[in-house]
Amino acid sequence: MTIHSKHPQTLAVHAGWRRDEATTSVAVPIYQTTSFQFNSTEHAANLFGLSEMGNIYTRITNPTNDVLEQRVAAIEGGAAALAVASGQAASAFAIQNITHAGDNFVASTDLYGGTWNLFANTMKDMGIECRFVDPSDPEAFAKATDERTRCYYAETLPNPKLQVFPIKEVAEIGRTFGVPLIMDNTAAPVLCRPFDHGAAIVMHSTTKFIGGHGTSIGGVIVDGGNFDWEAHKDRFPMLNQPDPSYHGAIWTEAVKPMGPIAYIIKARVTLLRDLGSAMSPFNGFQFIQGLETLPLRMRAHSENGAAVAEFLSGHNKVGKVIHPSVMDGEPRRRADAVMSGGYGGLVGFEFAAGGKEAGQKFIDQLQMFYHVANIGDARSLAIHPATTTHSQLSPDEQIKTGVNESYVRLSIGIEHIDDIISDLDQALDAI
Ligand code: PLP
Repeated sequence: MTIHSKHPQTLAVHAGWRRDEATTSVAVPIYQTTSFQFNSTEHAANLFGLSEMGNIYTRITNPTNDVLEQRVAAIEGGAAALAVASGQAASAFAIQNITHAGDNFVASTDLYGGTWNLFANTMKDMGIECRFVDPSDPEAFAKATDERTRCYYAETLPNPKLQVFPIKEVAEIGRTFGVPLIMDNTAAPVLCRPFDHGAAIVMHSTTKFIGGHGTSIGGVIVDGGNFDWEAHKDRFPMLNQPDPSYHGAIWTEAVKPMGPIAYIIKARVTLLRDLGSAMSPFNGFQFIQGLETLPLRMRAHSENGAAVAEFLSGHNKVGKVIHPSVMDGEPRRRADAVMSGGYGGLVGFEFAAGGKEAGQKFIDQLQMFYHVANIGDARSLAIHPATTTHSQLSPDEQIKTGVNESYVRLSIGIEHIDDIISDLDQALDAI
């Protein structure tokens, strides 16, 4: 029996699982096994031939991870999902699944630094060109598109600028060319559902808010099941022409009986099979635990984030505060167009004076906040990007990415707001 609901609070607790049929376990068991015994040689042949779905080997499918995949797909409103070993693996697979050497894709400049490196350097080494464009002008995506463009890529709520991406506008442009929009929704799960606004694929670093407790690295890719790959056969030969790595299977045809999920099945049975970035079932279990409280936590992160933004906006040592709740004009309109229930827990600010020293000294003064490179933890976290995450960029490049010398990035946790503000206040006092 599966519980159906349109509410993320219910789906986060129930989607994809009722109980273990063998033991009646209510909690999802950790199926810590490499392999699954076949019933017969015929059964084995059917599984390998994809005429029957089932477990073969944990590098490709695992029942614990399967529950995670179903649950994330349900919360995002997608058709099916694939869990992988990290957010980085999810970004790489999301592109590589439809992009060959010689092809290109268009990405927003507002990206996590690791994604930027993957796209600008590693993908380039693979012969795949990333064309970076400024997301404040959606038309820039159209201008960068040609017949070898395979997808668009952006983050819903990219830090440090925290300016929400124009999902609807760019998804619409993409659909006129037959180009799918892939959204990294890591910073805004539950608060934004990119499929509702036209995105075709969603990915997450589950390491962040979905895990929520800073214990495990993982990633997930969700197929919206809403993109007609067959209508654009020339643009997507990898889905529409015989695949020599799978007895000449044409994915859009072979997968049709299972639903509109050719993209995600191909990612599983080719990329995951060959590159091997599988999620450990133990991590899958941790992410399932995280998902159960995700809607509650996103509400608390958002409430605390907005309260911190308001507090910092009124402080005389603070120059600029970055959080959608204190934005106006077009950035606020874009946030309100796709987000509901809050703007999340990421907050940035710059000092009115004192530059780099002020930013560093502030971090050193914090007592309750953890000084770490992660985001999305239940605990409040802080970092000074100019001397850490962005230190390899030139001062000019730092400014372009939205990081000035004094910029401090906060990932506001779910502690009581009085304690969060009290820690920030005493650290500001010391500057
Ligand atoms: N996407 C975003 C928005 C991130 O913040 C991160 C990590 O910080 C990643 C992707 C990469 O995820 P992971 O660290 O799980 O590989």
